[in-house]
Amino acid sequence: MAHELAPLAYANNALEPHIDSLTMEIHHGRHHKAYVDNLNKAIAGNIALEAKTLEQIIKDLSVVPDAIRGPIRNNGGGHWNHTFFWNILAPGAAGAPSGKLADDIQTTFGSFDEFKAKLEAAGLGRFGSGWAWLIVNNGKLEIVSTPNQDNPLMGKAVAGCEGIPILGVDVWEHAYYLKYQNKRADYLKAFWNVVNWAVVARNYAAANP
Ligand code: MN
Repeated sequence: MAHELAPLAYANNALEPHIDSLTMEIHHGRHHKAYVDNLNKAIAGNIALEAKTLEQIIKDLSVVPDAIRGPIRNNGGGHWNHTFFWNILAPGAAGAPSGKLADDIQTTFGSFDEFKAKLEAAGLGRFGSGWAWLIVNNGKLEIVSTPNQDNPLMGKAVAGCEGIPILGVDVWEHAYYLKYQNKRADYLKAFWNVVNWAVVARNYAAANP
């Protein structure tokens, strides 16, 4: 079955002023759409890949034929990463985690503010395009970053890190350039105003049963 671009759960302008409407329109409607379209093109005719879910595909790229592994890594990762990103954002969400996630962030990183500073540093330190993530690896919270559209689910040999993402932030210039130009640090600070901590907590519970 072909992979599909799901509509956003909120309007393009819902994350204003932190993420602007035109960026959302282009980011979801063109960039994300292109990942979906190109993923479908890359797997077309491969019966084994056509039968798999997106997550199954990106978790085991080693079984993907050499000729299409690059496009599937990039576009499959792009599709998964963006779907995940839209889901952890919410209008007017400014806040902080609570419960076990809040406790474990404090234990792992020292405080919520230190956690935020470390995730921002991971995003700022990613040269070029990529993502910064909060993941669960062997039951522990970790902050990592990946290049391009790689994802910790792809495993260490592919992505340089491994684990289950529970929060992620896109640091490709297309995610922020219209509003923030070269000021990636300002975009990363603004990102905290639109994080849906209820969804992140759900991701955490699912990753850490
Ligand atoms: Mn993006």
